Amino acid sequence: MNEEKKSLNFLEQIIEEDLANGLPKEKLRFRFPPEPNGYLHIGHAASICLNFGLGLKYNAPVNLRFDDTNPAKEEQEYVDAIKHDINWLGFKWDKELYSSNYFQQLYDWAVLLIKEGKAYVDNQTSEEMAIQKGAPTEVGTNSPNRDRSIEENLDLFLQMKNGELAEGSHVLRAKIDMKHVNMHMRDPIMYRILKKEHHRTGKNWCIYPMYDWTHGESDYIEQISHSICTLEFKSHRDLYDWYLDQVCDPAKLRPKQREFARRNLSYTVMSKRKLLQLVEEGIVTGWDDPRMPTISGLRRRGYTPTSIRNFSDTAGISKRDNVTDVALLEYCIKDDLNKTAPRVMAVLNPVKIVITNYPEGKEEFLEANYNDYEEGFGSRSVPFSREIYIEKEDFREEANKKFFRLKLGKEVRLKNAYIIKAESCLKDENGEVTEIYCTYDVDSKSGSGTEASKRKVKGTLHWVSIKHAIKTEVRIYDRLFTDEAPDGHKDIDFKEFINPNSLQIIEAFVEPSLKSASVLDRFQFQRLGYFCVDKDTTKSNLVFNRTVPLRDKWTKK
Ligand code: ATP
Ligand code: MG
Repeated sequence: MNEEKKSLNFLEQIIEEDLANGLPKEKLRFRFPPEPNGYLHIGHAASICLNFGLGLKYNAPVNLRFDDTNPAKEEQEYVDAIKHDINWLGFKWDKELYSSNYFQQLYDWAVLLIKEGKAYVDNQTSEEMAIQKGAPTEVGTNSPNRDRSIEENLDLFLQMKNGELAEGSHVLRAKIDMKHVNMHMRDPIMYRILKKEHHRTGKNWCIYPMYDWTHGESDYIEQISHSICTLEFKSHRDLYDWYLDQVCDPAKLRPKQREFARRNLSYTVMSKRKLLQLVEEGIVTGWDDPRMPTISGLRRRGYTPTSIRNFSDTAGISKRDNVTDVALLEYCIKDDLNKTAPRVMAVLNPVKIVITNYPEGKEEFLEANYNDYEEGFGSRSVPFSREIYIEKEDFREEANKKFFRLKLGKEVRLKNAYIIKAESCLKDENGEVTEIYCTYDVDSKSGSGTEASKRKVKGTLHWVSIKHAIKTEVRIYDRLFTDEAPDGHKDIDFKEFINPNSLQIIEAFVEPSLKSASVLDRFQFQRLGYFCVDKDTTKSNLVFNRTVPLRDKWTKK
């Protein structure tokens, strides 16, 4: 029992305690509450995996609630993208809901608060109100409008609602305590005038409720038992509770806000505002640019739902702010693709080999497994001919004993094919090797069972037959930022740390079996890394993204 307790995270412990104290298990209900003002990122994935994970663990419903109270920044495009991403991650929400569904109820409650003398309309400037707010170490002072009569407040609030007052001229404030130690309790704003069309309610409203007023009451309406948010809302908890106090029916469930630390990831930024800047300024090609830490960017890059869920679980949840090393995310995708991706051959930086004793015009189709070590992957046939490409770095005229690749006078095996021996090479005026002449051992065909086929040679190289290879575009990505914490510098803008070499586009050659690959198909290009078909692929141009290399220079550093 004790051991089981230990393995629970602190939120699960809170839930277990609540259950032990009499909360019926059927009352457990969670929600994931994105604001549809951008695409989801890997930080949101932490919250998604947490909330939906609790739903699965306790067999409790999880609502998807769009927190759509700011029409200036919210769009249907974002709503659609968010739903797509959550589905793709493999989670099912119970109800799809919108805070905007509750605008009328929230308005009615606000009127009730005014009638009880607990809210008032203020028409000071925001500067005046900011000064009166005081500071954490200095009490605030009351607004001159604080004692407006209930009738006048009701009348002004109605005028606000009816669009009779100018944007920014009036707000509704809760009347709490301008001397409260918690700044959020010093007569917080409940409503502001915003003459903007809302993506769902259209022109119905021109006053919009603030986050704090909306969130807790929405949780209450939906009867969410545990409203889990990130640490920056901890100081809002007093206000969350005060607002609940005003409306909660003691016979009903009272939601509980609890906080955990945001997921931060090294070498990137995670705020939607900053990600939007990257998109709008054309620093990336869009929200789904494969260099973005968004779910859609990671998907396009070749990440799997499993890898993202494993990453979230492994990184865990914490009570304190911290930064997760992006190397963990990269480990998670390598680990998953290692288990799932078929192995194929591609040459990224080609040099030509001519096998001089292989008959001109001849071609053979060699059977090759998609995975030599695991069952169930199947196989395909790979064409072989007299002229092939190998990687430039796999050949040296001379090299020491540790170089197990091709060198003059020595043998290597071509994967799934024959043993070849380098005899001579041709160089251009710069001394660069342009062609390598080899001979092959006719009897050494892989899997043929002959003595020669069982001969051990040190190196095995990947290759493609020039005549059959498909020329493709390969996009090689590096980290988008050169700094571990690009937005962690006080006086330097995060964009100063953009890596100018985060995208390299090369022409490469892949085996013809890839002709039928579809967008998002993932492969291991043997000895190189994991690659995924990009959506820019057309009939005549196959485009691959490199998801991760097998080894990378960053971990070596
Ligand atoms: P951002 O600061 O990136 O714009 P946000 O908090 O404004 O994020 P929301 O759409 O309001 O984004 O977030 C929806 C839910 O996801 C909230 O419960 C929020 O606390 C959680 N969330 C957002 N970012 C992270 C993160 N980096 N790590 C964990 N949870 C997060
Ligand atoms: Mg937010």
